[in-house]
Amino acid sequence: MLPRRDPKSAKLAIVIWAIAINALLFFFVAKLFFGIQVIDETWRSLATHSIKHATHLAEIERNMGYVGFIHHFKNYVIRGSEEYYVEAEKSYRNATQLLEAFQAETSDKDDIKRTQLIQQTLDDYYAKLQLIKESYDSLAIEALDARVRVDDSPAEKALITLRQKLIPELEKSTVITDQLVAAQKANTLFAAVILLPVFIFSSFVTVRLLNLLSQLTTEYETIFNMSPDGILFIDDQGRILRTNQAAANMLEYTRDELKEMYVEDLMEDAVKSHHRHYREAFSQREQSRQMRSLGSAIKGKTKSGATIDLSIAISTRLVNERMHSVCILRDITAQNELKEQAERDHLTSIYNRRTLESIVVKEIDRSVRLHKPLSLLLVDIDNFKQINDSLGHQRGDEAIQVISDHLLEHIRAYDHLGRWGGDEFLILCPELDENGSISFAQRLQSSIHTLDPFYGQTLTLSIGIATHNGEQNVQYQQVLKAADEALYRAKEAGRDRAIHARQATT
Ligand code: GH3
Ligand code: MG
Repeated sequence: MLPRRDPKSAKLAIVIWAIAINALLFFFVAKLFFGIQVIDETWRSLATHSIKHATHLAEIERNMGYVGFIHHFKNYVIRGSEEYYVEAEKSYRNATQLLEAFQAETSDKDDIKRTQLIQQTLDDYYAKLQLIKESYDSLAIEALDARVRVDDSPAEKALITLRQKLIPELEKSTVITDQLVAAQKANTLFAAVILLPVFIFSSFVTVRLLNLLSQLTTEYETIFNMSPDGILFIDDQGRILRTNQAAANMLEYTRDELKEMYVEDLMEDAVKSHHRHYREAFSQREQSRQMRSLGSAIKGKTKSGATIDLSIAISTRLVNERMHSVCILRDITAQNELKEQAERDHLTSIYNRRTLESIVVKEIDRSVRLHKPLSLLLVDIDNFKQINDSLGHQRGDEAIQVISDHLLEHIRAYDHLGRWGGDEFLILCPELDENGSISFAQRLQSSIHTLDPFYGQTLTLSIGIATHNGEQNVQYQQVLKAADEALYRAKEAGRDRAIHARQATT
């Protein structure tokens, strides 16, 4: 039913589901709410009108009838007391005002006529009241009664009609309200029967999706942390957003500490700014690359300040509209140490023969490419066997180290020195021509004379030289052979000297 493996699809499914359910919920809650609102308003407008009418009518009747105008009027006629007159007048005004208000509320012409009729009767009574007030003392009760008689039956009829008309009006409001309530009940029933199960189902699905997401997150976290390589997830500013445990172990920080840092904080000071520029340029577009520092591994700095050799593979991708990079770090310090050991002679720490062979091949290629000369100096210690024999093998080793150190001190920065075997050394001198190589070899050979005797033995060197002119490609063995022959000549000529292959053959 649901995608099990892809977090992107799961996320999309949750979002779509949540939007759909929320929209449905919102729609129905709004519908129920507005339904109640409509019932309320309708009922109010219908019922309020009817009740207002009924109240007004009752007030009018009260002000006109018992404890109202007619009541006070009659009392005044019978008793002639001033207070009844005042009360009668007050009730008259109240009744008049109420009739005006009642009239203003209705648009029914018949009702207006009816109120006018009531008002008329009231006015007639009021006129009589004034009349008897003027001549009260001069008349007997019977005469007064006869004078103030008013036919109030039309007014009474009008009041009854008005009262009776209220009943259908109230019934109408009840019918309309009943209809609206019935519709509202149907909506509520629908919400209960359809919406409620949908919500229960929705909750179930949401919980299921959340479980799925948590499962995926755990899986990814496990994969992330199982990697033996360090992984850094960084943003386009170089801020470290996430790391795995291997990165934390490698760099000696905790994962939380790394999250507060920039990737440049893990570099040696000397390369920080270069790295920042490189990273900014690299994160311009989506790409992947194995990072290299010129000629050597990239140096990382651990929390304790130790330097480690790193191999870094970096991939940049657009994530949430911003470039992010994943850096895979591998600590190659031990690997580099092994490589170094494999390239070096164990006694002298200078290059061994195998390394020299690969360097000489590259240097010949280079000299041909650049049309520059390359000189090879094959250096051999004279009568070395005697040192071994007289001083012992261990002293012989020491002598080899002394010569090696001496040569290392005297070569140029871009020359290569290695132990060719036994008591033999090879020096590769790029861009050194015949004459230059001869004087360099002589300088080396005579500089050995300045050394103190080695346990009473004077160390001397014989050097055979060959120069490749860089004009055409040759096998390195050919050049070496020439140097070897020149060395042989030097030995033959009495040792402690340097001979160039060109001199050797002529
Ligand atoms: P020459 O002047 O003709 O070069 O005479 P030599 O006595 O130096 O003779 P050669 O170069 O042929 O002898 C090299 C000797 O060096 C042979 C070997 O016993 C010795 N040797 C080779 N490797 C080592 C080493 O690692 N340590 C020591 N102590 N001696 C070594
Ligand atoms: Mg020798």
